Amino acid sequence: MILGILKEPSPETRVSLHPEAVKVLTASGNKILIEKGAGESSFLSDDTFLEAGAEVKDRKDVLKEAEMIFQITPLDAADHSLLSKGKYLFGVYQPLFAKELMKTLADTGVSLFSMDSIPRITRAQSMDVLSSMSTVSGYKAVLLAAANLPRFFPMLMTAAGTIAPAKVLVIGAGVAGLQAIATAKRLGAVVEAFDTRPSVKEQVESLGGKFVEVPGAVEDKGAGGYAVEQSEEYKKKQSEMLEKSIIKSDVVITTALIPGRKAPILITKAMLEKMKSGAVVVDLAAANGGNCEGTQNNETVSIDGITVIGNSALPSTMPQDASKMYSKNVQNLLKLLLKEDKLNLNFEDEIIKGTCITHDGAIVYEPLLK
Ligand code: NAD
Repeated sequence: MILGILKEPSPETRVSLHPEAVKVLTASGNKILIEKGAGESSFLSDDTFLEAGAEVKDRKDVLKEAEMIFQITPLDAADHSLLSKGKYLFGVYQPLFAKELMKTLADTGVSLFSMDSIPRITRAQSMDVLSSMSTVSGYKAVLLAAANLPRFFPMLMTAAGTIAPAKVLVIGAGVAGLQAIATAKRLGAVVEAFDTRPSVKEQVESLGGKFVEVPGAVEDKGAGGYAVEQSEEYKKKQSEMLEKSIIKSDVVITTALIPGRKAPILITKAMLEKMKSGAVVVDLAAANGGNCEGTQNNETVSIDGITVIGNSALPSTMPQDASKMYSKNVQNLLKLLLKEDKLNLNFEDEIIKGTCITHDGAIVYEPLLK
């Protein structure tokens, strides 16, 4: 197969396939084309890709010649005319939020594999870009919080007095949240965490965090590990209990998401007013509307003396490792799609079926067909 790696549009800095993956894929008989400069913002030169076996080309030629096209960011409309039946496109498209774009792409005939739709099953863990990128975000969120907090994270006993450790609250103990707990603990903070899935209590505690319990949460074991919408009564109780933790925290990191829906508001303006002056909120749900009232996506704002950071593109701030991890996820999906250099598209496979959004001129992704 001919695989094409495109240069991401700014502000994205990652690259979708790393030279390590290029080496393996070319060794099994595939040809790899890379757009000039595609690795530059991840500190990977064209020469590094050439040494790994890729050919460097112009964007138009990559789009024209490649059978499989890789770009993390959805392609621009200007690129759509070069898509056609028989071509395979890989990226992060959030199809449930982009129905019109999915129709447009289906009309081009291209087969789209949206990496964020990989089913959350054990066999697919090594392909799961949501998990790998959440790991980056959870880690970086804590570093951002620490850099913006006007005080220390760890407890210090110095000749100039004793400093109490910072109190960090993590709301949403999924992949990003657990990484945030671990990172905040390493920096010496006292960490509390909350999630509507009571089953994560053990994981929070194993990382040294204290789990904030709100009894009565509904957890659906059939939801693939994801949270489900809670009752109004539960939300009220949750809000009252969370408020107590929020107002005593120096840092709150929010990661609460419900697939395909707007993120729930968990920190209201009224709660922000009661928070400690100088406290920091890092809202990792910013791209989905945010968990904090007043969050601006990709902006840092000050609300009543509280710094609210709504940066939803944290993987792009660590492009070296984030590219490596994303690329490894893609490479693992390709192991399923390719037998050596031949396409092996088996729609009976749950992972292929769950990740393919458009095929043969139609939308085939079940959640969009309902
Ligand atoms: P996510 O990004 O969808 O959500 C983040 C967290 O927010 C979740 O833990 C969710 O329960 C929580 N949340 C949602 N609404 C909330 C609210 N109102 N208040 C507080 N918390 C709220 O989740 P994620 O991190 O992508 O993954 C969730 C879980 O999925 C994981 O912990 C894991 O169990 C499972 N998972 C499985 C695989 C796999 O097997 N391949 C891969 C990744 C994750």
